[in-house]
Amino acid sequence: MSQSRAIGIDLGTTYSCIAWLNEHGQPVTLPNAEGELSTPSVVFFDEQGQVIVGTEALRNAIASPSRVVQHAKRHMGDDGKFWKINDYRYSPVQISSLILRKLLEGAREQLGEITEAVITVPAQFSDAQREATEQAGRAAGLERVEMINEPVAAALCHVLGSDGLNFSVLSEAQQILVFDLGGGTLDLAVVRYSRDEVRVIAADGDLELGGLDWTRVLVDLAAERFLAQFGLDPRETPESLQCLSLEAEQAKRSLSVRSRAAITVRHQNRLKTWQVERAEFEQSSRVLLERCRQVVQRILQENRFGWARIDTVLTTGGASRMPMVKELLSQLSGRTLNTSLSPDQSIAHGAALYAGMLQSNRQQAKSVYDREVSERLRRVQQRSVSARALGILVRDESTGQRVPHYLIGANSPLPAAVTSVFGTVVSNQRKVHVRIVESGAGSDRPATVLGDCTVSGLPADLPEGSEIEVTLSYDHQARVHVTAREPVSGAIAEVEILRADNLQRGVLPEGARAAVATVSESKSAVVSSPVAERGAVSKSDLRAKAQSESKSRPKSGGSEVDEDLLDVFQDLLKSMEGRDGVGGVGGGGLSDQPILLCEKCGAELGRGGRCTGCGAGPGSLSRGAGSRPAGPRRVAGAGGAGGGGASGGGGASGGGGVRGRGVKRPADPSEQEFWDLLEGDK
Ligand code: ADP
Ligand code: MG
Repeated sequence: MSQSRAIGIDLGTTYSCIAWLNEHGQPVTLPNAEGELSTPSVVFFDEQGQVIVGTEALRNAIASPSRVVQHAKRHMGDDGKFWKINDYRYSPVQISSLILRKLLEGAREQLGEITEAVITVPAQFSDAQREATEQAGRAAGLERVEMINEPVAAALCHVLGSDGLNFSVLSEAQQILVFDLGGGTLDLAVVRYSRDEVRVIAADGDLELGGLDWTRVLVDLAAERFLAQFGLDPRETPESLQCLSLEAEQAKRSLSVRSRAAITVRHQNRLKTWQVERAEFEQSSRVLLERCRQVVQRILQENRFGWARIDTVLTTGGASRMPMVKELLSQLSGRTLNTSLSPDQSIAHGAALYAGMLQSNRQQAKSVYDREVSERLRRVQQRSVSARALGILVRDESTGQRVPHYLIGANSPLPAAVTSVFGTVVSNQRKVHVRIVESGAGSDRPATVLGDCTVSGLPADLPEGSEIEVTLSYDHQARVHVTAREPVSGAIAEVEILRADNLQRGVLPEGARAAVATVSESKSAVVSSPVAERGAVSKSDLRAKAQSESKSRPKSGGSEVDEDLLDVFQDLLKSMEGRDGVGGVGGGGLSDQPILLCEKCGAELGRGGRCTGCGAGPGSLSRGAGSRPAGPRRVAGAGGAGGGGASGGGGASGGGGVRGRGVKRPADPSEQEFWDLLEGDK
């Protein structure tokens, strides 16, 4: 980063916070213009078009609820979400950029120019949601945006210490479960840390569970009482609902420290106050608590972890203050919780520490920090995992349905890469199209279509059946890249991922929808993966490799690369055996062929090569993609161990291709309407 300050931003669903790392390596929260340490993630547009962000915006929510936008983060990556105010439509990216702008303005007053920052995201965020966050950062005036998963930030804050780099003299590695219950999301991670490394082993969570849901329980409790007494429902008018929501929010906070709290309902000139008992609140919200329990158990079970292997349970996020949440965790884990992190500031502090780690690898960092601090920041490494699985869409031959076939399993160490070999199906084929999918947030959630990938510029006169190596990869920030090459000539193919900006990709299985509206394209050049073994690797090869790695691995310690390699091989094995929700090539009646997409409109081609969108017949395909899909013949290797330290030294893909903008018409009529709407908006 060219600026001298390391800046971390927690862009939260309900509250946001910005911090910097002072010269002693201490993360320090920067107050906003009003002097507050955290800023409500709320935006108010007044009638004159003036924009107000923060507490004042929240106060306006009662009088003018239709002019106020809250909880935009819950909609990041959602293509259809807009708030219409003053005849303008605002997307979640735009709302988030206004919140970031407010934070940055306050920080600039204190520190001077800021052009780069680390922004935190839930570990469960998809590539689309990460991209939306990056766009929001750029729209807020940042030239460079790095992202870090929220539980990793919390762990860094714990390990490196909010009081500066008082890094403990650890004799052996510790494993912690980070439990971050914020306003809108629950984020979990199992993190192993030693003196010099913070490594995420597994991440899980629920993007639709947070303190807001507990507030809603109190809203409903009070509203039902009001309804029973007056025959009127305060939830019916936005003003009364907003007023009641703020009351419920206050009552919820009181109930964290008291056994009862008052809630006042105002609606249609009537006003009534009730006392709510904590026991009643807990009883009414037990379903939410049960969801927390399930996610905690899932992360341990799916990653074959017992509580005996967890040294500490670390809580953060404002909603983790609720006694019922703490009791649940104590009960489940059988140990005392570590609540030493500030629930409101630790994520921003961790992000500032990570910004410092990135900066420390640059020359000028030496002059910014004390020598000891600089040394330490440079030494500490952070490694994360992809919370989601990444793959391509294939057809289930038995049902004819489109199903995801994952090549990189969830919880693979980052960066991670897998190369598939596709065969061309006609001679002189110049293009291959595949559709890329990511698994849902949590193993019980449906997969989402990430985009349509076109491999083009293949050498002329390739005979039918020529191999094309397509490498899917996650970089160190869990951003997706695709590269391709023709192995005989070594020619690097152009890869373009067509995907909608700021959208939630079509959810499977209801509809693997074509990309929508404005699309961006991602191009990258292929580089060989640092640990990829080119050539065919069969299931048995992998198993043998995993076993031999396992045998050769020392009981404790062992080189980092070996451990990574083993993990990657084991993940691949798992994926090839179709366990853990990861489909196997040719297994379970799956086609080994990706879904081919129409060259004209991008919609999926049906059997016989006819386009399901524009109806183009198979004849048109001879000009390009071939009359049937090029099938992945085998999985040819794995990558993932290179770089990945604090330097963020790029993924196996060679990191960040050129991002530009392209245009692609959607095929689905409902999406066509959306497209028209968007165009009308410009
Ligand atoms: P986010 O990062 O998602 O914005 P935060 O970590 O800032 O979330 O936590 C905000 C949530 O924490 C809100 O739902 C808020 O109601 C809740 N919260 C804050 N303080 C308390 C408290 N004392 N008791 C219960 N919930 C609280
Ligand atoms: Mg948060």
